[in-house]
Amino acid sequence: MSRTQFYQSVDTTLTQIRSEGLWKPERPLRSPQGGEVEVVGQSAPVLNFCANNYLGLADSPSIAAAATSAMQTYGYGMASVRFICGTLDAHRELEAELADFIGTDDAITFAACFDANGAVFEPLLGAEDAIISDSLNHASIIDGVRLCKAARYRFKTRDMADLETQLQAARASDTEHILIVTDGVFSMDGYIADLAAICQLADTYDALVMVDDCHATGFIGPDGRGTPALHDVVERVDIVTSTLGKAMGGGMGGFIAARQNVVDLLRQRARPYLFSNALAPALVGGAMESLRLVRAGDDLRRQLESNATRFRSAMTTAGFELTGEGHPIIPVMIGDAALAAEMATRLLAEGVYVTAFSYPVVPIGTARIRTQMNAAHTDAEIDRAVAAFSRVGHELGILS
Ligand SMILES: *Cc1c(COP(=O)(O)O)cnc(C)c1O
Repeated sequence: MSRTQFYQSVDTTLTQIRSEGLWKPERPLRSPQGGEVEVVGQSAPVLNFCANNYLGLADSPSIAAAATSAMQTYGYGMASVRFICGTLDAHRELEAELADFIGTDDAITFAACFDANGAVFEPLLGAEDAIISDSLNHASIIDGVRLCKAARYRFKTRDMADLETQLQAARASDTEHILIVTDGVFSMDGYIADLAAICQLADTYDALVMVDDCHATGFIGPDGRGTPALHDVVERVDIVTSTLGKAMGGGMGGFIAARQNVVDLLRQRARPYLFSNALAPALVGGAMESLRLVRAGDDLRRQLESNATRFRSAMTTAGFELTGEGHPIIPVMIGDAALAAEMATRLLAEGVYVTAFSYPVVPIGTARIRTQMNAAHTDAEIDRAVAAFSRVGHELGILS
């Protein structure tokens, strides 16, 4: 096939994405990320219910000041991987703080959690081993598992009976090490993984446990230490991966927290660590400050929880079908993909910015508006959003 035909096939794919209604538009903002944002093309600021900015720290002046100060001390960039000449004392301090917060011996940072999940499996497990993964795990886990030679098993999401079946299957085929991998929180549904049950099964079958806590670090569990702390299994969970790009100020960066020897081995062997640039000084300084804020008290977490309770209860009263539990991700179930998209468009016109999710991100026929609360929202703003949902819900015949 010719070069011309290559570009034609790209166009064909783009046309197909559009015609299937799966095109993901990007709406530029011209303000910081916050409870309210200015969207280009909208005459007034809109309420923002679709960011991972759970604690409202993305526009924190003290995080910006810490990032600026780190940049003034260390400069803009490292221009090196960690083992050549890219390691700052600040990188080691951040990793020690993250490990202390999560409750492990050490931690290792990456450019993103996507990289952390791409890094974690291949150095630790080989062809004699098995990875048992929840069917709804994040794309980066799926990709990371693909890079590793271990046998792959999948269990129906949050289905402990199926997890046990897969554990038995793995043990029956003479597997050496077994690693169970789960998201701490399933971000399309707003459910928290039952880590107590997973760890119990892991004990029975002598398996390791890994949790991706991106939608939990900083705000779920005691002191925001995540889902292992929530379920009181910090000691039993072997590996935690997470992000600095969500509740922790929303900047960039990922990390793996684990026992000392595991982290030591990852520093020697993890490819996205060995062959990719060190985290920029500003991100390191900002992350240190976000961790300090997260550890300073429960005020933001209390506000977030109260906002989530207020929204969930008012939306239920209004007659919407919601899913999820115990988490500020509150999906509003619509069903039809086109209807969900239309709802999101009309809500934006009403001053409420939300995003519709449909196939292939969620199963066919389960399109939804995934709302995410954050600590920056006021009661009045939550109420305004619920009123807009109700108006549009009636207009579109979703509410009777
Ligand atoms: C957001 C997310 C990631 C990716 O994190 P980044 O730091 O943005 O790369 C990985 N896993 C889960 C479960 C996530 O929600």
